[in-house]
Amino acid sequence: MGTCINPCRGCPLRDGCALRAEWRQKVCGLGLRNAWFVCPTLAKEIRPGRRIQVTIPVMGIGYDYRGGEHECFGGRKMVRATITTADARNHTFACVVDPGQISEEEQFSNSKTIDEIRFLKRRHHWRIVQFLDEPDLPLCKLGNVLRDGKCDTSDGSCSCREWAAADELTRSLSTESA
Ligand SMILES: [Zn+2]
Repeated sequence: MGTCINPCRGCPLRDGCALRAEWRQKVCGLGLRNAWFVCPTLAKEIRPGRRIQVTIPVMGIGYDYRGGEHECFGGRKMVRATITTADARNHTFACVVDPGQISEEEQFSNSKTIDEIRFLKRRHHWRIVQFLDEPDLPLCKLGNVLRDGKCDTSDGSCSCREWAAADELTRSLSTESA
């Protein structure tokens, strides 16, 4: 039986990876079922602002070939997203799906708005289908993606500006007293 090497299993960067080959050699013959490594290659890519492609669950409408009737099904859809937080040691990340990629009909949950389901909680690197060949997006002080100078949040508000204003005030007060 082979050894399952983490994080190589399901890694979007596994093809042709030199580290994967090295680790495979290292664990070869040890009879381990699992082996864990902290991957510097993956850690470098999983960073806030990095553009990725992930899949999310969506509802769809299909046709039953016998009766031609509508039928609802749950499927997964490929979407573009931006990493907002990253943990290098665990190869985990949270991300936000780009606006305009999920339609009302595709919305899986009735209890959440599209803008709420766009924000994906912390998950493992193997959920990344691929890293996009795009420049990183800037994030605001509170870790939200900045689009046209606006912070991308589920309810459209972000307190980073107040934070910045408070910082500014503290700075000016300390200069005055100096
Ligand atoms: Zn902000």
